[in-house]
Amino acid sequence: MVDTIPLFSRYPRLADRLPYMSLCELPTAIEPLAGLGQLLQIGGLYAKRDDRSAAGYGGNKVRKLEFLLADAVQKNRREVLTFGFAGSNFAAATALYGRRQGLDCLSMLLPQSPSDYVRSNLLVGRAAGATLMQSPSVPRLAVRALWQMAQRPFSGRPLPYWIPAGGSSPLGVCAYVNAALELAGQIEAGEVPVPDRIYVAMGSMGTVAGLAVGLHLAGLDSRVVAVRVVEKRFASARGLSDLIGRVIDLLGSDVVSRGAKPQIIGNIEVREEYFGGEYGHVPAETAIVMEQFAAETALRLDGTYSGKAATALVADAKKGALGDQQVILWHTFNCHPLQPLIGSITVRDLPAEFRDYFQTQVTDPSI
Ligand SMILES: *Cc1c(COP(=O)(O)O)cnc(C)c1O
Repeated sequence: MVDTIPLFSRYPRLADRLPYMSLCELPTAIEPLAGLGQLLQIGGLYAKRDDRSAAGYGGNKVRKLEFLLADAVQKNRREVLTFGFAGSNFAAATALYGRRQGLDCLSMLLPQSPSDYVRSNLLVGRAAGATLMQSPSVPRLAVRALWQMAQRPFSGRPLPYWIPAGGSSPLGVCAYVNAALELAGQIEAGEVPVPDRIYVAMGSMGTVAGLAVGLHLAGLDSRVVAVRVVEKRFASARGLSDLIGRVIDLLGSDVVSRGAKPQIIGNIEVREEYFGGEYGHVPAETAIVMEQFAAETALRLDGTYSGKAATALVADAKKGALGDQQVILWHTFNCHPLQPLIGSITVRDLPAEFRDYFQTQVTDPSI
């Protein structure tokens, strides 16, 4: 048990300014994947095990919640409002960890194709007591959210704490600034060489933005290979640049200068070719890579995010681009089984608008 996090031990004044509560088991392990690395002829291959970031429900979103829920609690909010796709890992994690802080959770969701993990995350959210709502498009979701807020004064309920999709507010992103500093500590301790490349999935962009800022603070020029897994309108170069700018502003000029922004962005390589055309769709190439990881490593990848980051990594290795490289796959997907969190909750406990997800039995390649 460490009593502070690398971000605060390095910048003690941030500890006074940024809300934080411990929900995770940090640092997460860094693990060599020697067998697979040899097979793929990569100089060195490692996994950063954020899939085990917390007991019960891990993955990258819990790190963000350490800051976001602390902020909500500090501001005396009773409820949090989150956005995402129906199977959102963030909505599920927020419901779960929010409940433990006594916070109600309202999840405003967009439709996606049905799959096992979508059904499971819906049930996890419901089991944690979240209110789930779905609207067919972003504008209609926004209208519904505003309508919900407009009702609050009449029902005597205070406004909830708003969290953008994926928890990628500048405050949530600080979690991955911290995660990069955590990695820097592991490099310093000799657990892993300085990586040439870090492969990671990019959705709401907070993980990539935070890692890039944190690597810069640590004086590491490792390249962040950001594998886009959502439509471009949700993850554009401009959006990423804007988010990094807002994170720099939040950290303040005594931590990082505004002038560092081009250099930070210059270390990110956005990859477009593994998305597969539709959020949540698992291309055949990704299914094969997931099987390969299951056979050769202890990692269980998901087809929406981490499997696509791994697909980019394997494709680059096969092109011969990684022969002399030290490579980290940042594993962002929760690896703990969800059934214990779901318990006896079933589709009958969900609002009718979610029943369709349970009509067709589609099986994910991973789970
Ligand atoms: C949300 C998510 C990501 C992407 O993180 P962002 O910060 O939203 O870009 C990656 N992997 C998994 C499993 C996720 O749930």
